[in-house]
Amino acid sequence: MAKIIDGKALAQKIRENVKKEVDNLKLQGINPKLSVIMVGNDSASAVYVRNKSNACKNTGIEFEEYFLPEETKEEELIELIEKLNKDDSVHGILLQSPVPKHINIDRAFDTISYKKDVDGFNAVNVGKLCLGKDCFISCTPYGIIKLLEEYNIEISGKRAVVIGRSNIVGKPMLQCLLAKDATVTVCHSKTKNLADVVKEADIIVAAIGKPNFITGDMIKEGAVVIDVGINRMEDGKLIGDVNFEEAKEKASYITPVPGGVGPMTIAMLVENVVKSAKNS
Ligand code: NDP
Repeated sequence: MAKIIDGKALAQKIRENVKKEVDNLKLQGINPKLSVIMVGNDSASAVYVRNKSNACKNTGIEFEEYFLPEETKEEELIELIEKLNKDDSVHGILLQSPVPKHINIDRAFDTISYKKDVDGFNAVNVGKLCLGKDCFISCTPYGIIKLLEEYNIEISGKRAVVIGRSNIVGKPMLQCLLAKDATVTVCHSKTKNLADVVKEADIIVAAIGKPNFITGDMIKEGAVVIDVGINRMEDGKLIGDVNFEEAKEKASYITPVPGGVGPMTIAMLVENVVKSAKNS
């Protein structure tokens, strides 16, 4: 029976440390501040922004929201980002995705100064991550590495399989695991014999967006299972990409949904804001 990895508890510990660091920075006259931009009315995004706002409030980080209407032009968004780049009182800039289709999100991410890109989505930070240089790391993979470290789970030399190759989870996860000396395979929708590949893994990271996609028979006895997926079911319940009931019988460690990776993503965001404030 797997040991449950408690992301909520570690996230709480990280937030407490962040709060202490924020208090220290304030004593030095630095007031850490995060600016969040949301374009349009995506209801899931509104919930994520509210959670980020609460995490900032709880840690003493100043939080500023820009809710832009759906019809906002790309140039208007770029102008706002450029204004925030120049504003010395702002330490972190976050553009909530998705944005309306008429906006080129890659251009917007790349307009955010890499020094304030606390989400780690800017091409400069992605490049630095690949090169093993100090940078802002995408919060979800960064949080997963912290969870593995907290539970003293060996990464070096292990076979890791990441399912999903998105720019915000799968690809940076690959780099983070590689940097910790894992042998990493990334699977996606064109992968052949996916179950056989997953079965070889000592560490499985599922970031697909399909409920219960990873079943017990795909999991090697004793594997560590990290479930990134957040899928809202019709009854309002949140479930992951892994069939938790089956997986917990095979795995040595497993993250629950909710309460696993999700809280860590937000904890790493506030940690990144403090890092940026310190760098300033
Ligand atoms: P994306 O939709 O951007 O990427 C999904 C990935 O899954 C793609 O690479 C896709 O492959 C792959 N995939 C889809 N179907 C299959 C399949 N049948 N077999 C193998 N691979 C498949 O999702 P995200 O990375 O943004 O998010 C993934 C999940 O994680 C979502 O549930 C999201 O809500 C959740 N999430 C949770 C966070 C947290 O804090 N816990 C943070 C961010 C996301 P291909 O590239 O070939 O299309």
